[in-house]
Amino acid sequence: MNKYDEVQQQLAQQPLHWLVTGAAGFIGSNLVEALLRLNQRVVGLDNFATGHRHNLEQVRAAVGDGAWQGFTFIEGDIRNADNCHRACKGADVVLHQAALGSVSRSIDDPVTTNAVNVDGFLNMLVAARDASVRRFVYAASSSTYGDHPDLPKIEDRIGNPLSPYAVTKYVNELYANVFGRTYGLEAIGLRYFNVFGPRQDPNGAYAAVIPQWIAALIRNDELRINGDGETSRDFCFIDNVVQANILAGLAGKDAAGQVFNIALGERTTLRQLYQMMRAALAPRFAHVSGHQPRFVDFRRGDVRHSQADIGKAASLLGYRPTHRIDAGLEQAMDWYVADLAK
Ligand code: NAD
Repeated sequence: MNKYDEVQQQLAQQPLHWLVTGAAGFIGSNLVEALLRLNQRVVGLDNFATGHRHNLEQVRAAVGDGAWQGFTFIEGDIRNADNCHRACKGADVVLHQAALGSVSRSIDDPVTTNAVNVDGFLNMLVAARDASVRRFVYAASSSTYGDHPDLPKIEDRIGNPLSPYAVTKYVNELYANVFGRTYGLEAIGLRYFNVFGPRQDPNGAYAAVIPQWIAALIRNDELRINGDGETSRDFCFIDNVVQANILAGLAGKDAAGQVFNIALGERTTLRQLYQMMRAALAPRFAHVSGHQPRFVDFRRGDVRHSQADIGKAASLLGYRPTHRIDAGLEQAMDWYVADLAK
């Protein structure tokens, strides 16, 4: 039996009380859904800065009213210490996802990004420490590798950050580590690499590349590729990220105080990604076969190539990605087609 099956059986026998921050967002709502399906008690915290009520409504519809009884939602802001304390009360495991994502947003507004991602993060660490939670798992980021040239990326070899967002995510790791050393808080950082899947927001100036492009292809809008199309990323389907969080929540003490790459472990160029999406959508929309992208300038703060070594997460957490990019895209397409048709 693999580690994830083992952990799910353990949770079925001994349900836990989880706090998911950023619960109305893309990753947070998928975590809430997975935990409720496992009949866990879940508290969600979110201020709807970038998340949506309809994400939670979709979770409710997906899990059914019985499992939904296990969920409590707190509308609140992690910049408010009282909100954090209230949310952490009684929690066994915290999965801290709330933050302002997007490199571009942080370049436009570094102050707000810092307030949420650093001050808010510190509030959450203090609240988790005061509530004596067993484990604090947090969303770190591949942006922490910054300008380090090595590929694949290995956890202890990082460069200089290339954006205010990357600074905030690195500061999270430093604080989490210090809270482990000084207060004994068992924190685990998951450095996500370009996560995608259902409920990732396709709208707005700061939308991530996959949902933005799917929406453009479905709507037959202009689609821009930044740079020459050879920029590459390690795109990771949401189910792999959910698995990593649940594993980290229950992992042994040897994983505490550490950070882990969470990705597929493969590199895909933007040009390849565009072709994969076109192939997935062409059978559903006649106009897609004739669609052509427009190549524009490189984006500020972007790293050129990214690919993770996932060996550490495999050995210490038992992480085994279940979805490759094409299978993930296929699943995500069903959701986007339904969502964008509304
Ligand atoms: P998202 O924007 O969909 O979710 C973030 C959620 O946090 C939203 O629901 C938002 O309303 C909430 N939030 C923001 N500010 C808040 C505040 N002050 N108080 C309470 N809630 C607040 O983004 P996501 O892609 O689900 O990202 C989740 C986490 O993963 C973030 O920490 C992000 O930095 C990290 N991450 C994501 C990716 C990715 O590819 N999606 C990659 C690396 C790291």
